Amino acid sequence: MRFSQLFVNTLKEAPKDALLKSHQYLVRGGFIQQVGSGIYNFLPLGKKLLDKVRSIIKEEMDKTNAQEILMGFVTPADLWRESGRYEKYGRELLRFVDRKENEFVLGPTHEEVVTFIAKNGVKSYKQLPIHLYQIHTKFRDEVRPRFGLMRGREFIMKDGYSFHSSFEDLDREFDVMEQTYKRILERIGVDFKIVEADSGAIGGSGSKEFMVLAPCGEDTIVVCKNCEYGANIEISSRALRTSPRPSELKYDKNPPKAEFARFYTPNVKSIESLSEFFKVDRFYLLKAVVKKALRADGSFELVYSFVRGDDEIEETKLLNTINRVDSSFLSLEDAESCELRESGLEAGFIGPYGLGHITQSRHIYFDESLREAKGLICGANEKDYHFVGVDLDTFENLSFADLAQTQEGDLCPKCNGELYYTKGIEVGHIFKLGTKYSHAMNAQFLDKDGKAQDLIMGCYGFGVSRILPAILEQKSDELGCVWGKEVKVFDLAIIISNVKDIAQSEFATKIYEECKARGIDVLLDDRDERFGVKMKDFELLGFSFALIVGKGLNEGRLELIKREGLEKFEIQCDENILENLLGILGRNS
Ligand code: ATP
Ligand code: MG
Repeated sequence: MRFSQLFVNTLKEAPKDALLKSHQYLVRGGFIQQVGSGIYNFLPLGKKLLDKVRSIIKEEMDKTNAQEILMGFVTPADLWRESGRYEKYGRELLRFVDRKENEFVLGPTHEEVVTFIAKNGVKSYKQLPIHLYQIHTKFRDEVRPRFGLMRGREFIMKDGYSFHSSFEDLDREFDVMEQTYKRILERIGVDFKIVEADSGAIGGSGSKEFMVLAPCGEDTIVVCKNCEYGANIEISSRALRTSPRPSELKYDKNPPKAEFARFYTPNVKSIESLSEFFKVDRFYLLKAVVKKALRADGSFELVYSFVRGDDEIEETKLLNTINRVDSSFLSLEDAESCELRESGLEAGFIGPYGLGHITQSRHIYFDESLREAKGLICGANEKDYHFVGVDLDTFENLSFADLAQTQEGDLCPKCNGELYYTKGIEVGHIFKLGTKYSHAMNAQFLDKDGKAQDLIMGCYGFGVSRILPAILEQKSDELGCVWGKEVKVFDLAIIISNVKDIAQSEFATKIYEECKARGIDVLLDDRDERFGVKMKDFELLGFSFALIVGKGLNEGRLELIKREGLEKFEIQCDENILENLLGILGRNS
């Protein structure tokens, strides 16, 4: 390709709303162009990158016997009603009607459609397993589309769905997909971490996310210093806590000596003031957190939860806990003081004693780290009073669940190593669905004994368009794009310093033709532009290497620059130039 023929307009200025460097570079480099909120055109260079990602994914997926299909982007609403998600999915689902008043949705994900395919195509266990995938457009009416391709409304996903006759076979496929995603990301050329992830109310170890490590990542992940353990903070667990965090130890009166004594604590409402009042570390205080759990129809229930005073509630864990009892809740909100008062409680003085009687709630939970906790200070369910010296093992029928957010410095649930936080961009998510959709949509197969069973399903998503900004967030520098191992725009740009210099032009064109013949993806920058402009474009667009054909040609020397790290190599203009050039490219990419 000659640069003079390439359809690309690079810009000096980034759009005002482009906060992330990946968004700035993708727009400034003319890879993409915004046409509406969260909707982008892919221009030739952007499309080229996208195709590279697609082909890596396709090659790796096809190796596993998964088969590519293409499902309709527009989906009849009735399929979504069958699964029960039409009402539950919320406002990210774009619903519309056609001229005959038929209702449709724009597919944000395709479990319903693929279950429809399997329902009509799979009769017997003999046909299983089957894995179908597509690489296609998705639409999610995100509340805040932002960061360019990172969180678009229209975006491209690889979504795969597998069907099995047993849970063991689903486990096997899940592992195959984990390995496949690993290979895909290695070929793309980014640092990543595979972490345990939220599986909603289904629970278990049924979900893993693939995180590209980058400081701007929207997800916080908890990682062990010692072993492989990694989990999204939403669900990460930790070893049982038995003492205050060393960095927070303040008082030596721990734990307080008293036996369920009622103390007058006027106006002592916060954990901080309670800790100060009794001169006791927050670890020994019982923190009550009351939330409103909301349903799709706007109705709600109050949920009461307790963690240690130096811990915080992790909402995802709490939501999953209550949904295991009754799966109708969509989200949590803070409860207002007036709502607490209506249920007979006073904010700041809530405790476990008599709570079930007062509230009549079926949702009262204690964090795992409070199992057998002794010597606690907690609210007395009476304004201005607390109890001191409370042992939770004296209460009957408490419900314990993992509710607290893991903090840095907590210990690994696998090896007791120290845990720390890092940031990641979710580019893939694999999930054991089980029979959730097949059951709802009545998609069955006949087992060995001729008995009808629900199909057992897995699903596997990969953010094909999101991976482009993810690469840039990890690899690009202050000058512009740096691309990945196999996802890149050109292997080599040959920059003619001055196109009016016939010797430079002829030499560069000759090398260009020879590189092309050798299968190198090469760009000849033959534009009648200043050398500085060409270098800036090389840096902004992130071609892997640039060969500068300039004044050095007269002395028989050329300069080769590697974009990543801007490392320089000298190349002699002798009969071996092509071999030397290809050698450096091969060794350094
Ligand atoms: P997120 O938590 O970032 O909203 P998600 O968990 O809703 O993502 P999944 O339903 O797991 O996303 O979709 C699979 C993959 O699709 C994600 O891992 C991500 O890479 C990509 N993806 C999801 N939403 C978007 C979006 N709005 N724009 C671009 N890519 C997206
Ligand atoms: Mg996800």
